[in-house]
Amino acid sequence: MKALSSAQLKKMAKLAATARDNAYCPYSNHPVGAAILTEGGKIFAGSNVEVAHYKGVCAEASAISAMCSAGGRKIKAVVVVGPTMKYLCTPCGDCRQRIREFAEDGAIVYSMWKDGSLGEAHAFADLLPHSFGPENVSEVAAAPKKNHQKKKKK
Ligand SMILES: [Zn+2]
Repeated sequence: MKALSSAQLKKMAKLAATARDNAYCPYSNHPVGAAILTEGGKIFAGSNVEVAHYKGVCAEASAISAMCSAGGRKIKAVVVVGPTMKYLCTPCGDCRQRIREFAEDGAIVYSMWKDGSLGEAHAFADLLPHSFGPENVSEVAAAPKKNHQKKKKK
């Protein structure tokens, strides 16, 4: 896809920053917000949510859950806003795989500074080269499930 317009990027950065400001991260104190643009032009935001046993979810995963819950399945762009002006947040490895599940060809990931200004923009394919995705398992999934059936008890 082509890059977002500056107005679109600003709008998404604002939604991501609002989500970041609502993040629940008492253990890391590292609030992050994300906003996802879908193929239908809808935007879904999310923040990181931590829990006491340390298995929280990232902002990107929260936004993807919101998108899926509303029926969205294609990601055109992701905007991530972190908490500092020193280090940019790019999606973690787990989130890159989650984004991969739904990313359209040419999807772009924008990493924004704390104040919402643009830090870096990356083609998603550059963030997860040689990736593994749904097409890698579609042939197996379509095949008879002899390897997935439970063995009959004798
Ligand atoms: Zn993550």
